[in-house]
Amino acid sequence: MSDDQLLCSEDLYPFTLERYHKVADYLDIAPGIREKLAVVKREITVNFPVKMDDGQYKVFTGFRVQHDIARGPAKGGIRFHPAVCLEEVRALAMLMTWKCALVNIPFGGAKGGVKCDPKAMSEGELERMTRRYTSEIIMFIGPDTDIPAPDMYTDSKVMGWIMDTYSMQKGFSVPGVVTGKPLSIGGSLGRSGATGRGCVNCISSAAEHLGMGVKGSTASVQGFGNVGSVAAQLLDEMGCKIIAVGDSKGGVFNGKGLDLADLVKHKGESGSVVGFREADTISSTDVLEIPCDILIPAALENQIWEGNADKIQAKIIAEGANGPTTPRADEILDEKGVFVIPDILANAGGVIVSYFEWVQNIQEYFWPEKRISSELHRILSDSFRKVLETSKREKISMKMAAYYLAVDRVVQATKDRGIYP
Ligand code: NAD
Repeated sequence: MSDDQLLCSEDLYPFTLERYHKVADYLDIAPGIREKLAVVKREITVNFPVKMDDGQYKVFTGFRVQHDIARGPAKGGIRFHPAVCLEEVRALAMLMTWKCALVNIPFGGAKGGVKCDPKAMSEGELERMTRRYTSEIIMFIGPDTDIPAPDMYTDSKVMGWIMDTYSMQKGFSVPGVVTGKPLSIGGSLGRSGATGRGCVNCISSAAEHLGMGVKGSTASVQGFGNVGSVAAQLLDEMGCKIIAVGDSKGGVFNGKGLDLADLVKHKGESGSVVGFREADTISSTDVLEIPCDILIPAALENQIWEGNADKIQAKIIAEGANGPTTPRADEILDEKGVFVIPDILANAGGVIVSYFEWVQNIQEYFWPEKRISSELHRILSDSFRKVLETSKREKISMKMAAYYLAVDRVVQATKDRGIYP
């Protein structure tokens, strides 16, 4: 399936709500607070024209949603994708609230997106679209209010355009308005690979807990972008064999292990992992179902569902993507005894280093990379341990344990602030 054929992932919102309500029952949250957290605080839809290279104007639709800000300014990425819709952005904003709370960084949750096909647009068109979208949501964002970051098909270049557009409107430079920027304008060392690095951090903790070594194990990775490619390369460096990799065009397999450096080069030149020499072509579905020790879904949501969950053969699933597993699939994987590292933990490395970037911007003092990776490691190892302890103590899955800790923290913050007026 190509990206263009994908429909909006409307299901992600009811699925995210379903998990929240399950934990809300468990925590016995007071009805008013429960209701407050089940809805998003603010949301904006913007329709705006962009001049395309052929001189015609095209109208794009974009969104920015803030789910909750009880624990601090809203934080969350911006996605450019043909399937972006308000329901999906709402769900992703809610996931950001839980993620920031779980790893205990002082942010609430937000998300944004523009419905577009970035692969079919020139750099000039993308820049004009990004700058106009930024102007349209400018009343929402700011270093003290709502801080965007990269997500699918957005990167440091896009963040640079957002920072510049915002700064031009203010009349002075405001680096803290976005994270994931280029280093030259206040980006942080270690941010670009932080989500993949954090994912591998969690995999190491899970492997240690299960008594299996990462070295000598095998892995399959769906999505070879910012998250998937970094996670694959770091696992490869640790002696794990990456046997399958997939992207939006399909997948490749080599039972002896793929040469990651060559694969990165091939993808850079051809735009896809498909067609890589010394590998068999497989489908995106095969990438998920192939027998391996570690599976990393690092592409889109709802990829593991009731129709394929039973066919998953991995021992560990590290959810690099946001919401890659449906609630029914959660239950099937649980019954099968698969160790799932939930998305709000497995992919939290990105927002943790985004937090470091924001702190560095505010203090105008930059940290060496060693400090960033050691603090990232400390926060994630601590969070993993707490989720595992909660899972054992409450006899609930890792996913429910992560939600349990996260929702409880947001409820506490809401109670401590009280309801205005
Ligand atoms: P990216 O744009 O860098 O890469 C996305 C990858 O997914 C590409 O390789 C693309 O080809 C592949 N893909 C797209 N559609 C696919 C399909 N239908 N089947 C298989 N592969 C497909 O995006 P990213 O930043 O790596 O984000 C990937 C996931 O991780 C998303 O769910 C995102 O929300 C999540 N995430 C990203 C970050 C971050 O810091 N970038 C942080 C947390 C979570």
